[in-house]
Amino acid sequence: MKIITTILDLNLELQGIQKNNFSLGFVPTMGALHEGHLSLIEESKKNNSYTIVSIFVNPTQFNNQDDLKNYPKPIELDTSLLESAQCDYLFLPSSEEIYTKDYISPSIDLGKLDQVMEGKHRPGHFQGVCQIVYRLFNLIQPTNAYFGEKDFQQVAVIRYMTTFFKLPIKIITCETKRDERGLALSSRNLLLSNEEKENAYHIYQTLTYAKENKHLNTPIKLHQLTTSYFLTNPKLELEYIAIINSTTLEELVDDWIEPSTICIVAYSGKTRLIDNISLSE
Ligand code: AMP
Repeated sequence: MKIITTILDLNLELQGIQKNNFSLGFVPTMGALHEGHLSLIEESKKNNSYTIVSIFVNPTQFNNQDDLKNYPKPIELDTSLLESAQCDYLFLPSSEEIYTKDYISPSIDLGKLDQVMEGKHRPGHFQGVCQIVYRLFNLIQPTNAYFGEKDFQQVAVIRYMTTFFKLPIKIITCETKRDERGLALSSRNLLLSNEEKENAYHIYQTLTYAKENKHLNTPIKLHQLTTSYFLTNPKLELEYIAIINSTTLEELVDDWIEPSTICIVAYSGKTRLIDNISLSE
């Protein structure tokens, strides 16, 4: 695997790929890699001549400076995981390399996408996500880019941005990888104590509770029931539960519109965890 840290070296490597019309799969990450990330790489390797992974903890998408400071950065472990996954390239730029003094990010109005769920609770987060993904898409110019369904709203935002800027990149989503008890794999799980991790299992239990109790309930009633169920574990702090139309992300109230999804964000200790499952068959 080649490790590339500068835009100059990236361009040199990409020249060969582009000249030969090889397909390039791209997996953007913030590192602290786990099986979830590896599943995206596996999918990319199946369908592209080359796969490039980026690791960049993007400061502009963090609305909480402690979160940025505490974000795990086990770069040596990440590199060896990528080697074992037979990834072709790791793009590992510095902040200065990405956000050069003369670089101006184009702005994008995300409309309603930025006003619900993560958009509402993390002001500026999706502007930061668009900024970095747009920048990386332009630098790397992949054929296909891979994202996890775990960050459900992020996928909607990236799809919107790609269409808005007419970028010739196919966005491919991969299902959420979980541990044996259902906890969604996340880099932030590294920050959980044993007790916090035990409590975090309640998030997936709540999601499955909602799915099992969907029939015979309106969305708003299911929201009430699910919230009550969630609150039976007082050790977790609920930020929000949303039952949404999976396409528009609008909250469902009286009627089911399919496909539908339930999203949860909660804190276990100081760690913010995000998860969702489809409520459709
Ligand atoms: P991150 O490093 O957290 O920014 O995530 C990089 C990519 O991996 C994003 O597209 C995430 O949605 C995806 N991802 C994170 N966790 C998982 C998981 N448990 N299963 C599948 N994909 C994931």
